[in-house]
Amino acid sequence: MPDIMLTEEELMLKSAIRDFAEREVAPRAMEIDQEERFSFENFHAMGKLGLFGMTLDPKYGGSAGGIKPVVVVAEELARVCASTSNAFVVQTGLAGYPMNQFGNEKQKARWLPGLISGEKVGAYCLTEPGNGSDAAAASTIAKKVSGGYVLNGSKTFITHGTIGDVLIVFATMDMALKHRGFVALVLEKGMKGLTTQKITGKMGIRSSDTGTMFFDNVEVPEENRLGEEGQGFRIAMQTLDNSRVGIAAQALGIAQGSLDEALKYAKQRRAFGQAIADFQAIQFYLADMAMRVEASRLLTYQAAALKDAGQPYVKQASMAKAYASEAAVFCADRAVQIFGGYGYIRESKVERFYRDARITPIYEGTSEIQRIVIARHLLQE
Ligand SMILES: Cc1cc2nc3c(=O)[nH]c(=O)nc-3n(C[C@H](O)[C@H](O)[C@H](O)COP(=O)(O)OP(=O)(O)OC[C@H]3O[C@@H](n4cnc5c(N)ncnc54)[C@H](O)[C@@H]3O)c2cc1C
Repeated sequence: MPDIMLTEEELMLKSAIRDFAEREVAPRAMEIDQEERFSFENFHAMGKLGLFGMTLDPKYGGSAGGIKPVVVVAEELARVCASTSNAFVVQTGLAGYPMNQFGNEKQKARWLPGLISGEKVGAYCLTEPGNGSDAAAASTIAKKVSGGYVLNGSKTFITHGTIGDVLIVFATMDMALKHRGFVALVLEKGMKGLTTQKITGKMGIRSSDTGTMFFDNVEVPEENRLGEEGQGFRIAMQTLDNSRVGIAAQALGIAQGSLDEALKYAKQRRAFGQAIADFQAIQFYLADMAMRVEASRLLTYQAAALKDAGQPYVKQASMAKAYASEAAVFCADRAVQIFGGYGYIRESKVERFYRDARITPIYEGTSEIQRIVIARHLLQE
């Protein structure tokens, strides 16, 4: 497909990542899904390619580029394996981005090189067992003590929750202050009082590591605080605004992968003496999918381009995330329909796409929350 929205350089990146995804990621996608196993092979390969530092500080190994190339990578990875795309988006957007943006030089020097090279796995820890969308209701408490904080509470549904080395944890210093009481603290694997438990049995993105964390009097030194006391909620929200563009791209990749597989199959599969692609019903499904893929791509590129131009982009990021994620669910569903019975068994890629797509309208702000953000902007404009 001609892509007038990408520069020469971005087109070359797209082609290189497609090649990497097809060659390295796709062959093990089914196996790691079935085994619910995080692929360190994929993770380290992405680190070697320099993908985790694409938007980050060159002083620490990054390449200080824009988010549009990140969108290109997230889409191409998700086209073959949404779990791998998620590892990329979380490492670069949810861990690397806040560290790069809000960390001081000492913190950046300490944590960014490992996050960029992929030697260290990053995680963003906001959701709790009792609250997800209502993040300001967090009850994980950071009690101020001499030299730092003592952390108590728990976080759940955390991507890289059990394998993460560098964990950005959002906690409250005083629940009565709601979002104004938040602090962002960097924890490291192995700290005393920190335990984790893997969440198994997910519907989709089964090779993405998801965990629950428990903090039992974890002592966190003051030098591990990102930004100031009271700024934690702003750090959490700005990080999500940025990373939503990556999730929109991930959803776009699932939608594109579903369309590609459905197109191939529709031309091969025969019924009533002809290819099923000759039936208008199937053609209409394909057309409906293609329209949504392209609309998702335009919205996602637009949000990325606005961000890269330093313009307001939060409304467009929410639109891209809500639209593309719902498009991914639609496209994966239609792909299963086009595959018929073969789409319903584990061996088909579209069965995995169908399960993987379903997380995208839920995490990093549900579709309902995106609509709240969009409407708030419309009513304020
Ligand atoms: C696989 C996976 C990975 C994840 N990774 C991370 C991660 O790395 N870090 C992290 O911090 N979190 C992560 N999450 C958590 C995810 O972001 C939350 O699940 C999500 O934000 C929704 O929160 P909840 O599950 O508590 O649902 P709830 O907030 O309880 O929402 C339940 C339903 O109510 C709706 N709802 C809630 N409030 C409103 C409202 N005001 N108006 C209308 N409808 C509303 C929601 O849209 C939803 O449909 C992950 C989740 C999963 C499943």
